[in-house]
Amino acid sequence: MSLKNSSGPIAIIGAGLSGLSCAQALRGAGVEARLFERARRVGGRCATRLWQGHLVDHGVQYFTAQTSEFKRELLTRLRQFRPIVPPILDHHQKIVPSPNGPRFYVLQGNNYFAQVLAQGLDVRLNTNVETITFGNDGIECQGEKYRVVVSSLPAPQTARLFALGDTGEEYLCCLSALLEYQGAHVGDSRECYARILPEGSEPILGSYCENHKSGRIIGNKTVFVALGSPRFSAAYADAPQDAYLPDLIRAHENLWKIPSGTCTASFGHRWRLSRPRKAHPLDFDLPTGAFICGDSRSEESTVEEVWLDGRRAAEEVLAYLAS
Ligand SMILES: Cc1cc2nc3c(=O)[nH]c(=O)nc-3n(C[C@H](O)[C@H](O)[C@H](O)COP(=O)(O)OP(=O)(O)OC[C@H]3O[C@@H](n4cnc5c(N)ncnc54)[C@H](O)[C@@H]3O)c2cc1C
Repeated sequence: MSLKNSSGPIAIIGAGLSGLSCAQALRGAGVEARLFERARRVGGRCATRLWQGHLVDHGVQYFTAQTSEFKRELLTRLRQFRPIVPPILDHHQKIVPSPNGPRFYVLQGNNYFAQVLAQGLDVRLNTNVETITFGNDGIECQGEKYRVVVSSLPAPQTARLFALGDTGEEYLCCLSALLEYQGAHVGDSRECYARILPEGSEPILGSYCENHKSGRIIGNKTVFVALGSPRFSAAYADAPQDAYLPDLIRAHENLWKIPSGTCTASFGHRWRLSRPRKAHPLDFDLPTGAFICGDSRSEESTVEEVWLDGRRAAEEVLAYLAS
């Protein structure tokens, strides 16, 4: 019997939304997957932090649901999602349309979607997979042999893991700042959910007000998530928070017309590989038995796209196993 036809789980590296969606689709087809996740919780860039007592989404801010497949998933697996009604405004105070339909958030924090997806799956947390070895007798991962390995990591990490050389795909760094203010809806944050600036603006590209997500913010406070521009974020990628937070705070307060010096708490987070500079398919050959999913090859780096791509990867794996 060839290895690929043998029984036993297949390995998925990374338990973000694409890896989890891939594992669930495989499970639905009767194939067990084992997920390896280096962090202490699932979700990856779909991250929610309990900060100053507030639940703050500091990765995925919101998601849309365009396809019937994804809508069905949200309605059956995840009921606790709500639309964000106030608009996003641009620098001309114009409403930024959402061509893919309403923007949604999850009541318990967007990361809760990942937690729901992880239910019933074999997830090994706190497990950083550094090497994968492809041999004639199987694919070795963490001391065990697998018939298939799926990487759901950003392209540069997948390339390193599979020893593929340069992917030519550049990922942008993004510094995010969590900012708290005394008083509900400070500045003109009541008017809109977020304010975004045109590409090329420095040092921030936008700022989102978490008070527009019901039940997230405790007490009489306003909380924002400001996202640094790619250039600014790259320049301060390895710097301590104190080096970049003052500039981000100043630009953010300007955007929302908040008096300076009124920020009561701040926290900086670095997304070293936040999203691809531009989406395009990877142009390298994967070793036999290796598959990829996620935003290294999806049309866009969005929740819906990577969820769909996880399912696409599961179909590819099933076709390979059946061939
Ligand atoms: C700041 C920010 C804001 C965003 N806002 C939005 C938004 O509003 N709406 C939207 O739709 N999308 C948004 N996105 C994009 C969205 O987050 C991504 O498209 C999506 O979450 C990617 O999911 P993924 O599973 O493909 O990758 P990831 O979420 O990156 O998952 C990969 C997982 O692999 C793990 N990992 C990495 N290396 C290893 C290793 N060696 N061994 C084991 N595990 C490993 C990581 O810890 C991670 O959990 C945003 C992204 C960022 C960074």
